[in-house]
Amino acid sequence: MIATSFLEISARAYRQNIRYIRSEIGPKTVISAVVKGNAYGHGIQQMVEVVEKAGIRHFSTFSSDEAWEVLKYSKKKSEIMIMGMLYPEELADLIKAGISFYVFDFQRLELAVTISKSLGIPGKIHIELETGFHRTGFEWSSRERLAKALLADSSHISLEGLCTHFAGAESISNFVRVKSQIEVYLRFREYFTQKEVLFKKYHTACSAATLVFPETIMDMVRIGIAGYGFWPTKETFYAKLHSLPKANKNPLKRLITWKSTVMSIKQVKKGEFIGYGNSFMALNNMRLAIVPVGYGHGYSRLLSNQGQVLIGGQYCQVVGTVMMNAIALNITKLKNIEVGDEVVLIGKQGNKEITVASFSESTQQVNYELLTRLPKDIPRKVIS
Ligand SMILES: *Cc1c(COP(=O)(O)O)cnc(C)c1O
Repeated sequence: MIATSFLEISARAYRQNIRYIRSEIGPKTVISAVVKGNAYGHGIQQMVEVVEKAGIRHFSTFSSDEAWEVLKYSKKKSEIMIMGMLYPEELADLIKAGISFYVFDFQRLELAVTISKSLGIPGKIHIELETGFHRTGFEWSSRERLAKALLADSSHISLEGLCTHFAGAESISNFVRVKSQIEVYLRFREYFTQKEVLFKKYHTACSAATLVFPETIMDMVRIGIAGYGFWPTKETFYAKLHSLPKANKNPLKRLITWKSTVMSIKQVKKGEFIGYGNSFMALNNMRLAIVPVGYGHGYSRLLSNQGQVLIGGQYCQVVGTVMMNAIALNITKLKNIEVGDEVVLIGKQGNKEITVASFSESTQQVNYELLTRLPKDIPRKVIS
């Protein structure tokens, strides 16, 4: 089977992004590569290879299925950490495999202790704290019970981490909220230290927090979006501009290129409507290239009459509505375009470039969402 489009993943771009993050965090802090959401659409299999080649030995996933996938492809015995979902019946296998996981309520804690005891293997747990994100995490009011439980069971479990997650460190409008979360975290940490409940790693920062709130860096940072070469928001980029290694030069490089080919070329007469419905009428005689990528492949319908791609080194506009499996592009002004020619949906062709950001601005989708919507079955290839 040959697919209708392809993704290329640049290992070199990832190394560059990690060099930049490293320059921000110093030599000692561990970088955990966040690979949830099929590695933000890049593919877990491909990213495990890319990440390990960049020298990183720690992965974060949302759920256990992703953790098993990382384990399957890891060649370097990297650490794997689950930040969210797992089923109780899987805990024994996860503990045996040495995969660590977040514990955010007493139920999961008790289960982890019971299973660790019966296996005789200390489960590796990260205690997640509620500091103001209000998703998961132990409440401040439960600190005493938690400290007691952890002390009582300390010989059966391994306290890998004390962690939390910030609600919107990528936007200055959340400044007060994030600052208050940092304070709550530090109060918890102080409390546990006084009770002599000590953890191997203290970790709180995602990409935006790492870049904008350096006090959140601690023993480990959990880097998702920046590793893939995107600023969490424009604001984070502006916040860093003055301190970039090379003045005003963006140190983050996109890894992903999305390519397809021209499937068919068609002439349309002035006055004809293009595609479904009547959203686009040809005002002149036009020539169109039909490309076999549609909303069923993650090319959003919101890009109807909006999106652009590169063909023959030139920008071409999407005309009409995005279909399930295809789009029509205006190539009236281009010469010598043939069936089979390369089409770039995201990435560079010649000296022009389609960025994911330009995409998302036109559809109000954030980078994260567009990337994770790229279907799993588009072939992905790592390039060096
Ligand atoms: C997704 C996630 C991250 C990574 O966030 P980025 O903004 O992509 O760097 C870090 N920590 C937790 C708990 C997450 O869910």
